[in-house]
Amino acid sequence: MGGTFDPIHYGHLVTAEGARSDFGLDTVVFVPAARPPHKEPRRILAAEHRLTMTTLAVDTNPYFSVSAMEVERRGPSYTIDTVREMQLCYPGREIYFITGADAVLEILTWKNVGELMEMCYFIAATRPGYQLENLQVKLASLPPGRLARIHSLVVPALAISSTDIRQRVREGRPIKYLLPEVVEDHIHREGLYRT
Ligand code: NAP
Repeated sequence: MGGTFDPIHYGHLVTAEGARSDFGLDTVVFVPAARPPHKEPRRILAAEHRLTMTTLAVDTNPYFSVSAMEVERRGPSYTIDTVREMQLCYPGREIYFITGADAVLEILTWKNVGELMEMCYFIAATRPGYQLENLQVKLASLPPGRLARIHSLVVPALAISSTDIRQRVREGRPIKYLLPEVVEDHIHREGLYRT
């Protein structure tokens, strides 16, 4: 489960549980992106805080865990490096990379995309009403075999978004019930997202 998780919220958690159940996954490992290759580092919260919040959020689900591999790795957080590392951690197992559909839309620009698509399956999570045809159109140049490795998952809880949560905190509006209470407490205690 890859994402910036800035911050993690119930949309992410419902997505992970839905993917686990629908695709028969043994476990879901959340991997906060330390330095997403396409984002300005100044604009995202320090990786340590995002890692802490993710760890707090998954604590009550025995199928979920968190990996600091992208935080510990130097340089940009390329998914190909993460999937390679996952293959070493789970030899012989099939790997599904779960993330938001908008991120998957850009997959043709990702590092070593051809090799990456041979190594794992993808689950592109969307909110209801999302134009899934966008994926088909944007990724039409992929060979059919590769396109078939991208699955979609419609998750109503993805109406919740990290951008909205950050804005709410900045404006002093409630974020209760959008994310786990332990994460909310961490945000308020550490004074995150106020500016
Ligand atoms: P993003 O652009 O911040 O997010 C795009 C959309 O997807 C947002 O609506 C976001 O909602 C949603 N989203 C993100 N992660 C999600 C998840 N795990 N489950 C459900 N929805 C999710 O995307 P990002 O977080 O930076 O990147 C997503 C993943 O793709 C990361 O693991 C990143 O490292 C990887 N990636 C790799 C490359 C590369 O290898 N070159 C390039 C780009 C991205 P919220 O804002 O509410 O989360």
